[in-house]
Amino acid sequence: MTQTPDTPKDATPEGATPVDAPPAPPRKSHGRLTISASLQPRDLMAPQRVKGAWCARIITLFPEAFPGVLGLSLTGKALAMGLWSLDTIDLRPFGEGKHRNVDDTPAGGGAGMVLRADVVARALTQAGQGAPADRARWPVVFLSPRGRPFSQETARRWAAADGVTLLCGRFEGVDQRVIDAYGIEEVSLGDFVMTGGEIAAQAMIDATVRLIPGVLGNHASTEEESFSGTLLEHPQYTRPPVWEGREIPPVLLSGNHAEIAKWRQSEAERLTAERRPDLWARHLAGKG
Ligand code: SAH
Repeated sequence: MTQTPDTPKDATPEGATPVDAPPAPPRKSHGRLTISASLQPRDLMAPQRVKGAWCARIITLFPEAFPGVLGLSLTGKALAMGLWSLDTIDLRPFGEGKHRNVDDTPAGGGAGMVLRADVVARALTQAGQGAPADRARWPVVFLSPRGRPFSQETARRWAAADGVTLLCGRFEGVDQRVIDAYGIEEVSLGDFVMTGGEIAAQAMIDATVRLIPGVLGNHASTEEESFSGTLLEHPQYTRPPVWEGREIPPVLLSGNHAEIAKWRQSEAERLTAERRPDLWARHLAGKG
């Protein structure tokens, strides 16, 4: 459900068109889901909400970007079944004044705009309602290229919590004071800069939600794949056995499970050594 503060509907900033926030588009259909980018509370594909199910709360200027890809396939089905839930909190209504301004120019000068501490704090306070204050049980995260890199370990930690709150930045980011005051961890999707945190949020939620029991049909597959140990996954093949003159490695069709396991292990080692010397060194150190 989208959470919004108690502002009258007509408080919507009429004609407020900041560069990064076009006026709300008309209702759009995303397949079976109807999504509107308005102040109306929205329930994102969770007709049944399982009590105590893992929950992602997203603070964003673009709630219409959700569930996005998370509404598809396995994560989408699990969302519809209530195995996890997704709340978007629109930042705009927490803004200042008639135009609900959420940002201002950087102190000390320079290009771009910075999301205001007071505005973000109001949204964070709302996001905190009903969530445990213990950050281990409910991490509160600012998506930021300056953050610690997201990893499979991060996904495991978040999946073990009751839920997470993700604050999506835009423009130049968020006033540091609110990050300090709210015990927020900064997490990065990688060493590149995007225009906003929404794609990073979806990537991280996807990686986390698939670790929740029942979300993947075959739970064992999360134990074998890349990053669960310290090796990258071996290559995969499927029918046809010969495609454009290229054969599936014969051992995989041999039915000899011990040999298959040996082949997969040696391919995983080869790929890891070739592509990721950092992981390979960790693997060797772990064995020694
Ligand atoms: N001036 C900032 C970049 C701002 S990009 C800097 O140099 O650090 C605008 C917003 O996009 C950020 O606040 C963040 O929420 C999001 N973002 C951009 N790249 C990201 C990344 N690699 N990981 C996570 N979030 C990112």
